[in-house]
Order: sequence, then structure tokens, then C-alpha cells
Amino acid sequence: LMGFVGFANLPNQVHRKSVRKGFQFTAMVVGESGLGKSTLINTLFNTTLYPPKVPVPPSAERPSTVAIESISADIEENGVRLRLTVVDTPGFGDFVNNDECWKPIVENIEARFDSYLEQENRVNRQKIVDNRVHACLYFIQPTGHSLKPIDIEFMRQLHTRVNLIPIIAKADTLTDEEVADFKARVLADIAHHKIQIFEAPTYENEDEEAVAEAKEIASKIPFAVVGSDRIVKTPDGREVRGRAYPWGVVEVDNEDHCDFVKLRQMLVRTYMEELREYTNDVLYENWRTEKLLSMGV
Ligand code: GDP
Ligand code: MG
Repeated sequence: LMGFVGFANLPNQVHRKSVRKGFQFTAMVVGESGLGKSTLINTLFNTTLYPPKVPVPPSAERPSTVAIESISADIEENGVRLRLTVVDTPGFGDFVNNDECWKPIVENIEARFDSYLEQENRVNRQKIVDNRVHACLYFIQPTGHSLKPIDIEFMRQLHTRVNLIPIIAKADTLTDEEVADFKARVLADIAHHKIQIFEAPTYENEDEEAVAEAKEIASKIPFAVVGSDRIVKTPDGREVRGRAYPWGVVEVDNEDHCDFVKLRQMLVRTYMEELREYTNDVLYENWRTEKLLSMGV
């Protein structure tokens, strides 16, 4: 089931009624350029949302601020329609001075809340378009050391506004042992700075299988991922999505090789609806309350 994305499972996550309307989901990707953000999005949704990059000539003028670019695609699987929007943030962390490069990102997230609030306040609320960011994949450079100040600052500034999902980029550049150590250090940093990352909720009376699944997913955070939009041949002759090296093939969809499958399970197959709900019920609600209080309402 290599090419199966998994959102066809959405109807099991919510009531059948919403199937006809289709689903809207917006994911944001943040991290320094070259960490594999576009590749991973293509791999996750099995689309070429991002066509191969045309190299920019060195003489071309480079932007000096973080840009916010969004792309949407309608994808369909087993009769279930998903309108997927990916918000990319090219430029993040790429400048000589990266102070406050989180700022345009917070502003963009809040502008989307604003637009939602404005629609809610209209007389006709039938056609609300939900452009709020439901998840933010934050790409951590696979240094093997610990988080950098820019990572900590970004997450500290954003965690009350968006579901943060930390990811160790290009995990194939680290050994298994390095990944394990790095994960432990990243988690310690996150805890030390009291950063709230998205946690898969567990409910009372939930069956054992669901609880085990949630635990299994949680145990992989921060997900160490490998992305590839290529099919390569393994030494034993299988065709897989992966990256070929002289010493062998790293398989994207192989859980012994990386956490891609678990990340997709969290984002798409199991918790997409939870991510949307938490965004609406908690993150958006808190923002709205703060906004109304600051306006003296
Ligand atoms: P972005 O700038 O973060 O969007 O990064 P891209 O997706 O454009 O990828 C930058 C380069 O890294 C490309 O040459 C990709 O083929 C490569 N790349 C992407 N994902 C991975 C990965 O998981 N491991 C390795 N080793 N390289 C990757
Ligand atoms: Mg990119």
C-alpha cells in the first residue's frame, strides 16, 4: 500500500455527514531551507505539490525576509475528498540575522484566526472557509547535538497558537544511536523550556488497541524522518520509496528505517480530526478570548 495516503480513514474519525462536504486541512512547514520540507510534503500526500526546484542564479536578488507561500490541492482517495493546503515559509533561519524570524509566521497564523472570526461574526455563517493552520511541522536540523536557539525561540513563540509537531529532518544522515540520543536531548530541551507540543489525546473508555497506538506514536516524537519522491530498487529487488546509497537503500515506508509511517499516522490517518478540533476548541478559542479582552470587550 505504498501509494496509499490514508485520509480515506477520515470518515471513521468523524461523522459520515461531513464526507459529502469534503475535508479541509492546512499544514504549515517551517525550518531552514534544504532540510527536505517540500520533499516530505510530497512524500506524505503522495502528490507533487512541490515540483522540482529551478535553481536560482547566484546573481538573483535574494529576499531578506521570511515569505509565506501557500499551495492547495484537492486530493481524493476512495471517494473521500480532501482539500489540502500547505503553508511554506521559505527564508526561515536563512539570514545572517534571524532574530524575530518567527514573527511573520505568528502574524500569518493570527491573520487566519482573524479571518475565521470575521466569518463567524457574519449574518450568514453557512459558508465558513477554515483557513486556520491545523498543524505545524517544525524541521530540526540533524546536527546530533541539541536544539538551536532559533528552534527554541520559534517553538516558544508559536506553541500557544498552533499544534507543533517537531521533526528531525533527513534522519538518514544520523546513525540509529545518534537519532536516539538526539531525540532524548531535543525532548529534554522542549521540556526545559516548557514548550507544549501536540499530544495525541487518549479518551476514557478507549479500547486497548487505540491506547497502544497512541503510546506507540507518542514514543516516536520527535519523528526522525526521511523523505523521497523517488522509487528505488532494493538489493533484494523490491521497488520502494526511498533513497539509494552505495551501502544500501533507506526505505521511507519501513518503520525499521525511519519514523515516516508514524508521522503520517499521526497527521493523516488517525489524528487529523483531533488536530482540527484542538485548533478550534483550544488554540483558536484562547486567541479569541485574548483578543476580545485586549479590546476591552
Ligand atoms: P526544503 O528547502 O526544506 O523544501 O528542502 P527540499 O525538499 O527542497 O530538499 C532539499 C534537498 O534535500 C533535495 O536535494 C532533496 O532531495 C534532499 N532531501 C530531502 N529529503 C531528504 C532526506 O530525508 N534525506 C536526505 N539525505 N536528503 C533529503
Ligand atoms: Mg521547499
